[in-house]
Amino acid sequence: MEETAKGTGTSRRKLGIALAAVFVPLVALLVVQFFWLSRLERMSALAHEAALGNYLDAVAESSERYWKDAAERALDLPSRMFTDQGLEQVATFWSERRVEGARRMFLADFTRVRTGNFLVFAPESGALETPPASDESLAMILAVTPWMMVSANGTPVTNAGMTVDERNPEVRLIFRPILDERLRVVGVAGLVVDPTWFVKVFLPKAARKYAPEYFPGIGPKDLVVTVRDDRGAILFRHGADDDAKDVATSKFSMVFQDWTVGVHARRATSAQMARTGFLINVALSLILAGAMTAGLFLALGAAGRAVRLSEMKSDFVSNVSHELRTPVASIRVFAELLKSGRVTDEAKIREYGTYIETESRRLSRLIDNILDFSRIESGRKTYRFSPGRLEELVEAVVETFRVRLRGEGFEVRYEGPERELPEMQLDGDAIGQAVHNLLDNAVKYSGDARTIEVRLRRRFDDAWIEVQDHGIGIPREEQRHVFDRFHRVGTGLVHDVKGSGLGLSITRHVVEAHGGSVHVDSEPGGGSTFTIRLPLEPERTRKE
Ligand code: ADP
Repeated sequence: MEETAKGTGTSRRKLGIALAAVFVPLVALLVVQFFWLSRLERMSALAHEAALGNYLDAVAESSERYWKDAAERALDLPSRMFTDQGLEQVATFWSERRVEGARRMFLADFTRVRTGNFLVFAPESGALETPPASDESLAMILAVTPWMMVSANGTPVTNAGMTVDERNPEVRLIFRPILDERLRVVGVAGLVVDPTWFVKVFLPKAARKYAPEYFPGIGPKDLVVTVRDDRGAILFRHGADDDAKDVATSKFSMVFQDWTVGVHARRATSAQMARTGFLINVALSLILAGAMTAGLFLALGAAGRAVRLSEMKSDFVSNVSHELRTPVASIRVFAELLKSGRVTDEAKIREYGTYIETESRRLSRLIDNILDFSRIESGRKTYRFSPGRLEELVEAVVETFRVRLRGEGFEVRYEGPERELPEMQLDGDAIGQAVHNLLDNAVKYSGDARTIEVRLRRRFDDAWIEVQDHGIGIPREEQRHVFDRFHRVGTGLVHDVKGSGLGLSITRHVVEAHGGSVHVDSEPGGGSTFTIRLPLEPERTRKE
C-alpha cells in the first residue's frame, strides 16, 4: 500500500511537472508574442505610411520620366535643318514623332532672323505656321529670349540642356536650344505641355499602374490619389470620392512643379489597419493557446484517470487477495478439525459444516463477480433473456440472506408489490446477482445497524427494487462514483470492510443491459437506499 502511495505521489508530481513544462513556456510565448505584435503594429503603421509615400514618388517619377523622354525624342532636332536643309524638314520630323501630351510643337530660328523666326507645327496640315498673337506665343517669346541673346552674341554654349518654363501655369513649356557644330545657338525647339491630357490620360494610368506594386490585393477604389494645384484646388482624383486627410504627399518634378499629389487609403487609416492586424494576430494566438490548454487538460485528465485506475487496480488486487485468503484459511482450519475426528459434538460438526458452506458460497460469489467483471470488460458478457417473475427472483435472494444472517442478528424485511407484476423478459441469474450485490453491500456497510429493508414495487411503467440499510452511508461527492469499477469510498467513515470495488459496477451493467438504471440515495451516517429501476415492457427489456 505504501509503495502504491509513493508511486501515485510520483505520478502526480510528474503530471505537475508536465503541466508546468507546457504552461510556463506557453505563457512566456504569449507575453513575448504580445510585445512583438505591438511592436509590429507600430512598425506596420509606419510601413504602410512609407508604402503610400513610395507609391506617390513612383507616380511623380513616372511623370518626370515621361516628359524627359518625350522632350528628348521630339526636340533633338539636327542643327543642319536650321542651317542647310530648310525648316520644312522639322515639320517632317515632327509629323513622324508625334508626342502625346504636347499641345503644340514650336521652334525659333535665329539663322534667318536674328530676333527669332517663330513657327508652330500644325499637325493637320503637317506644316510649320506663324503663330497667332496669343498668351501662348507670348510665353514662347519670353522663354526663348535668353537664347536669342546668346545666339546674337555668338558665344559657344557647352551646357545646353532641356529647360522647363512654367511661369504661366496655362502655358507650360519644355524647350532646348539647337547648336551647330561650333556650339553656337542656331535656334530653339520646344513643346507646350497639354495639362488636360496629363490629368485625364496620364495620371489615371499611372495611379492604376503602381497601386498593385505597392499594395498587392488592394481594390481600385481603396487608394485615393488627389492632385491639387498651388491654391489647393482639386485637379484630379483617383479612387473613391473621399476627402479624408492625405497620409503622404509628394511634388511633381520637371513639369507641374507647383502641383501636389497626395494619397490616403479609403476606409481605414494606416493605424487602423495596423490595429486590425494586431487584433487578428492576438486573437489567433489566444485561440491557439486556448486550444492547446484545452488539449493539455484533456490529455492530463486522461492521464489522471489512468493514474487513478492503476491505483484502484492495485487496491483491488490487495483487497481481493485478502478476501480470498481469509475464508480459505478458515475453511482449511475447520476442514482439518472435522477430518481429525476430534470434534464429536453433533451441533459443533453442523456449525463447522455450515460455516464452511457459507464461506465457500461467498467465495464462489466473489469469483463469479470477478469472472463477470472480466467478461464485461472484454465485451464477452452475454445475457440470456427468458420470461420470468421479478417477485420470485427478489424473494429468493432475500431468503438466501435471511438464512445466511440468521446467526448475526440481522433482520431483512421484505415488502412486495401491491399488485402482482407482469411477467418480464429477464436474465434471472444476472438480476439475482445484481440484487445480491446490493444486499451484500447493505450488510457489509451496515455498521452497528441491524435492519435491512427490501421493497419491490411498481412505479409507472417500471419495477423498482429498493434495498435500504441504516449503516455508514456514502458522502454526497462519492455517490456518483460508487458505480465505477474498482471504486471504493476512501474518505469519511473509512471502512475496514474488505471489498473488490466490482459489485456495483456489475449491478449497473446488468441493469442497463435490461434497459433499466440504478440510483443511490444516501446520507453519511444515515444509511443508503439503492434503487434498481427496470422497465416492465418486454420490448425495452430485450436489449443485450
Ligand atoms: P465493494 O466490493 O468495495 O463493496 P462495490 O462496487 O459493491 O464494491 O461498492 C463500491 C463502494 O461503494 C464500496 O466500497 C463502498 O465504499 C460503497 N458502498 C456500496 N454500497 C454501500 C452501502 N450500502 N453503504 C455504504 N457504502 C456503500
